[in-house]
Amino acid sequence: MNKKMIEDLNLQGKKVLMRADFNVPISENGTIRDDTRIRSTLPSIEYVLNHGGSLILMSHLGRPDGKKNPEFTLKPVAECLSRHLRRPVEFIDDCIGKKVEDRVAKLKPGEVILLENLRFYKAEEKPETDPTFADSLAKLGDCFVQEAFGTAHRKHSSTYYVPKKFGENSVAGYLMQREIDFLGRAVLDPKRPFYAILGGAKASTKIGVIRSMMNRVDGLILGGGMVFTFFKAEGIPIGSSLCEDEFLEEAKLIMAEAKKKKIPLILPEDLVIADKFSATANRKIISVADGIPEGWMGLDIGPRTIKKITSTIDHAATVLWNGPLGAFEMAPFAEGTFAIARALADSDALTVVGGGDSVAAIQQMGIGEEFTHLSTGGGASLEFLEYGTLPGIEAIADGLVSHKS
Ligand code: AMP
Repeated sequence: MNKKMIEDLNLQGKKVLMRADFNVPISENGTIRDDTRIRSTLPSIEYVLNHGGSLILMSHLGRPDGKKNPEFTLKPVAECLSRHLRRPVEFIDDCIGKKVEDRVAKLKPGEVILLENLRFYKAEEKPETDPTFADSLAKLGDCFVQEAFGTAHRKHSSTYYVPKKFGENSVAGYLMQREIDFLGRAVLDPKRPFYAILGGAKASTKIGVIRSMMNRVDGLILGGGMVFTFFKAEGIPIGSSLCEDEFLEEAKLIMAEAKKKKIPLILPEDLVIADKFSATANRKIISVADGIPEGWMGLDIGPRTIKKITSTIDHAATVLWNGPLGAFEMAPFAEGTFAIARALADSDALTVVGGGDSVAAIQQMGIGEEFTHLSTGGGASLEFLEYGTLPGIEAIADGLVSHKS
């Protein structure tokens, strides 16, 4: 995929409107608990400032549902950014209107302003309710930089309609480009053997990506709560494990298709089961073939499965991982997820992790640096893997030159 990049623009004296993803966790006292998303945008911000541009930054934070609510203000982000950039970042308590326009009119090269939460306006998430909202944002900049990968799967005003208004002057920032490069490479042109490990709670949210991966991988490894829908479809007793009965037929179809196409579908052989969904539950390890007894539920993969997955990883050239392999937030059921994370970190393969909980597990272990790419978007990375593109990527200009990171 070739998209125009920040380096393709002449930024001298330009006012650059950048859609970032500053949706960071903030404590009640206004402290940012994890500033990864802010830090990952710094290279693009610094590039603009070092090339004679000024910046108008915009983002959403949380779900204020179209109403101004101080609980969701982006003000703490301005302070954090200012510390990282070692220069003032001026916060403006609105994102459109005269006050914003007057300030932007006086903006000088090297200056940075951060607008208030876009989702204080209903039209951000529901562009059809007021198309002028996107116009009001677009008129603030001479050019547009897309950095909000985490929301690029949404057709919102700032992620889709605003960039479209900039035509050739709408480009991808470094973070966006990295996501497109690594997820795109993993999906479209992987080094083989290529394996995908898909876990997480629900089959329903992963069916699309399972289907699209099935046509691309040399083997598909499934774990987490979603496997019980597959086991039940095969007639294996699953006790009180997570299951979505409405997806039993779909699970059967997927297993049949994998068989027909001769794609190895690797499901857990053994499991850690518990008598309740609790860290203090009674636990035991069972073979899947024996089924899960009534009143028990599967909460992690067992040691034989861990071995099987790690030995598969050993001879892989590319591995894509999305979704934990057990209820890893509870220590007694974290072993499978942590063992697979460790094996991926130690592997020579290109390792790409598709956002959300798997990245949280990796960060908890402090081994993030040992992966090729950790995506900053959960839902966005899944949709990108399923469709090969996203609305927020479609909205920016196509590039002529191939950029490799
Ligand atoms: P997802 O957002 O679909 O990737 O799901 C992530 C969640 O799945 C995490 O909160 C895990 O605790 C949960 N999960 C993974 N495996 C299981 C399981 N066997 N039973 C219940 N929850 C699980």
